[in-house]
Amino acid sequence: MVDYKVFYRKYRPQNFSSVVGQEYTINMLKNAIMNNKISHAYLFTGPRGTGKTSTAKIFAKTINCENLVNGEACGKCQSCLSFSNSPDIIEIDAASNNGVDDVRELINNVKIAPTESKYKIYIIDEVHMLSQSAFNALLLTLEEPPSHAIFIMATTNVESVPITILSRCQRFNFKKITLQEICDHLKYICNLEQIKITDDALQEIAYLSEGGLRDALSLLDQLSSNYEEITLDSILTNYGSISSLTINKLVEAILDGNINDIVGIITDLENNASDYKVFIKKLIQQLNKKAILSKQNPLAVKISYEQIKDMIFELNNCLNQITIHVNPYLLIQLAILNYIKIDNTYQQNVDNNTVKNTVDNSKLMEKEPYQEKVLDKVVKTDDFDGDLEYIEELKKIRTNNCFASASKTDLINYQNLLKSIQGEKDSLLAMLVDVSLVAASKDNLILTSNLSSTVLLINSKLSEIENILWEKYNVKLKIIVLSEDEWKNLKQEYIQNLKNGVKYKLIDESSLEKKNSKENSQLEKLANELFDSNKIEIIGE
Ligand SMILES: [Zn+2]
Repeated sequence: MVDYKVFYRKYRPQNFSSVVGQEYTINMLKNAIMNNKISHAYLFTGPRGTGKTSTAKIFAKTINCENLVNGEACGKCQSCLSFSNSPDIIEIDAASNNGVDDVRELINNVKIAPTESKYKIYIIDEVHMLSQSAFNALLLTLEEPPSHAIFIMATTNVESVPITILSRCQRFNFKKITLQEICDHLKYICNLEQIKITDDALQEIAYLSEGGLRDALSLLDQLSSNYEEITLDSILTNYGSISSLTINKLVEAILDGNINDIVGIITDLENNASDYKVFIKKLIQQLNKKAILSKQNPLAVKISYEQIKDMIFELNNCLNQITIHVNPYLLIQLAILNYIKIDNTYQQNVDNNTVKNTVDNSKLMEKEPYQEKVLDKVVKTDDFDGDLEYIEELKKIRTNNCFASASKTDLINYQNLLKSIQGEKDSLLAMLVDVSLVAASKDNLILTSNLSSTVLLINSKLSEIENILWEKYNVKLKIIVLSEDEWKNLKQEYIQNLKNGVKYKLIDESSLEKKNSKENSQLEKLANELFDSNKIEIIGE
């Protein structure tokens, strides 16, 4: 067991030609060496596991090799043989050394000539993590590098590298490795290691590793020690991943407007603790295929291109914005349902489903008129207009009232109040953590979110949230959530009005409330049907 090496170490590329998926970069580096055009500073950027550090080492080895063979290190000369222990190769992992004076000292020692090689080469991994003092030392060196010094820096986070450093480096961007390239490489290793694996399992590992070869190899490593044959099932049970079959079923349910199925599938995924990020990405991929299909032939897909497109954007927003405060599955569900319009024929469709599924032939024959019917159904407006109208009116009134006496002091005070809500265990209040407070008067708050599902969700629970704010924080507030676009427009209008001397007067919203005083508003009812309130839970610490 002592000899056991994890795959990603065992199969770490040893020369340029074995680096996977970075042909362009590798060629440039090789040419630089062969043409003797080596710079003093390189920056390798890109996602994790794409070969930056391995390439840095190979590059360093090749630069110092005394007998290049077709642009590759010979592996036999003195420099190649002593490479791993060479005092002239200085490896720094800034992620584990940050803020440590040693790093600064190492860099300061750059003036001392190499002891046994042509160049003294510094490989600095995760360079963005260097402490300020280390960055300063590095910068000084890069401004006037000794002729014998080369810096090869790598980072997954180029945004955090100071521009003063960036401007002095030759930069190479390592791209995500494609699914195909990862599959091919995994297959190659499975052959060498005599690992039995099914094709769909290979694909799934490649998919889960998101373009990072190191992650793919680690996964393969773990699975191969647990299973005689690696199958898709073994991956799904181990990693809570989501099979393409499930995603396909969900997409079909979306196209059919079958809310029961949509909610059922999402609930299952949630109960299995599936990774919601993988879920969203796979769903977007599958929806994207349908979007293309519907562009090519609108009748081939049961909902419109526009709807699919909007749904994809919304899901993508979810991906970027889901925080730990609200159950992600809830938002995903809303993001989907938001774009599915239902009417009375829906229930009928659900009832007919069993019949349709058992009588396959008749379903085929019915195909064309059925599609038309669904298209028709989608275009029709739904039952919830009344409530949506009510909320639209409320948006106008409350924004107006907030503008009428908005002040910076109120804004700051309430922003502080919202900050103290962070970590709030109450599920309704927790929703406020994900919105921004953009304007406030003594009694009114305007909040924004660019997730339309969040806007819908909070606006359907306004009075409940306001009650809790009163009970817990002793503030009587009227709140409203706008999408960021709505806010942008209203703000512009407000500024224009200010310029023109238009005064905002308070509007009484009680007349509006009366109109809507029927017990449970439709919108609220929809929200309640979709998730009982104890399902909105806080999953963070
Ligand atoms: Zn050599």
